Amino acid sequence: MSILFLAHTEPDGTLAKSALESLAATVQLAQSLGTPFTVGLIGETPGPAADAIATCGAQKFLTVSGPEFSQARYATDAAAAEALCRAAAATLVTAPATSRWNRVLPGLAHRLGGRADTHVTGVGVSNGQPCVSRWFYRQRMEAVFTRSTRPWILALEGGIAAPWQGAAGTAHPDAVAVTLAAPRTQVTGFEAPAADQQTIRPDAELLFVTGAGWTKKQADGEVKVAEAETLIREFLRLSRSSLGSTKSLVDLGGEGQSVLPFLSHLNQIGQTGSTPRHAKGLSTCCHGEEPHTVGWRFIGERRAISLDANCGWARGKADILYVADAFAVMAKVNALLAP
Ligand SMILES: Cc1cc2nc3c(=O)[nH]c(=O)nc-3n(C[C@H](O)[C@H](O)[C@H](O)COP(=O)(O)OP(=O)(O)OC[C@H]3O[C@@H](n4cnc5c(N)ncnc54)[C@H](O)[C@@H]3O)c2cc1C
Repeated sequence: MSILFLAHTEPDGTLAKSALESLAATVQLAQSLGTPFTVGLIGETPGPAADAIATCGAQKFLTVSGPEFSQARYATDAAAAEALCRAAAATLVTAPATSRWNRVLPGLAHRLGGRADTHVTGVGVSNGQPCVSRWFYRQRMEAVFTRSTRPWILALEGGIAAPWQGAAGTAHPDAVAVTLAAPRTQVTGFEAPAADQQTIRPDAELLFVTGAGWTKKQADGEVKVAEAETLIREFLRLSRSSLGSTKSLVDLGGEGQSVLPFLSHLNQIGQTGSTPRHAKGLSTCCHGEEPHTVGWRFIGERRAISLDANCGWARGKADILYVADAFAVMAKVNALLAP
């Protein structure tokens, strides 16, 4: 067996946290299998990144370098990864499940006649063979499985291992040449919302979830979407939490009702949404239905604010339920958080 760990360098030439986590998982896997492993790096000048992880225990370092490999582009990333896999004669390939790698790895498996598995949440060894964990059916069932097809390419989810830490050194990487047909895709730049408009923050300690109740008629018979927006935005600004939503709330926009304009389906948590990982979660104006709360599977401490003492949260889904008006509670919380 021959293991290859793939990563690309960041614009500043370093390796991202997700790459160091995947590296740590690969080091553990190689040790459990008793197999040496190779590191393959892609980037404009990946040499310094290789030196930074020189003592990780890799038998060999391979690099594909050049300005055309600095940016995410399927054609160049796939060609570079293919060349690295062939140079390493890899039978097992690991890479962090970044959006850049997730786009490339299935195509890479096709080029090499192998198989790829995405969203891998654990790697281990069973009967001397590598095996992986993966969730199915919208995170309801976890499977541990192996494959006989080689090369087997694994996209490792973030957070499955602590980032690799160790001394830098001199890696002496071997450069792998890649001949590229003239790329038809030019990367002209990135567009990203300003940091304050970016509401999905995977590294945040708290997940703050908004439900459809924020847009419903309140006790005085009024709908208070503008007030809801101010309270939610203010809380996000003060707490730096990550914003999640229920399906009902993000769907309301499509039904022409008053909605919170900064929410999209990307914020949706649950069976048909995402399953984020945060230390704590606070749900507001949400009923706590099973298809929603299944997305809270990896949230450590769960609290909810709902007017309904009989809601789903009250039935064992939350650690603490505040039966209260979320408008009043969040106004008070914001006042307490304000500097
Ligand atoms: C196949 C399938 C998949 C689904 N997938 C998902 C999914 O991935 N994610 C998801 O979220 N849903 C999903 N759903 C929908 C889910 O079943 C629920 O319908 C939805 O989550 C309910 O959203 P809600 O709690 O925001 O709204 P509602 O059910 O309308 O609840 C609003 C709550 O707000 C409370 N409230 C109102 N005003 C206040 C106030 N001032 N203060 C405090 N509380 C207040 C009300 O008492 C009520 O409990 C799915 C459904 C199906 C059938």
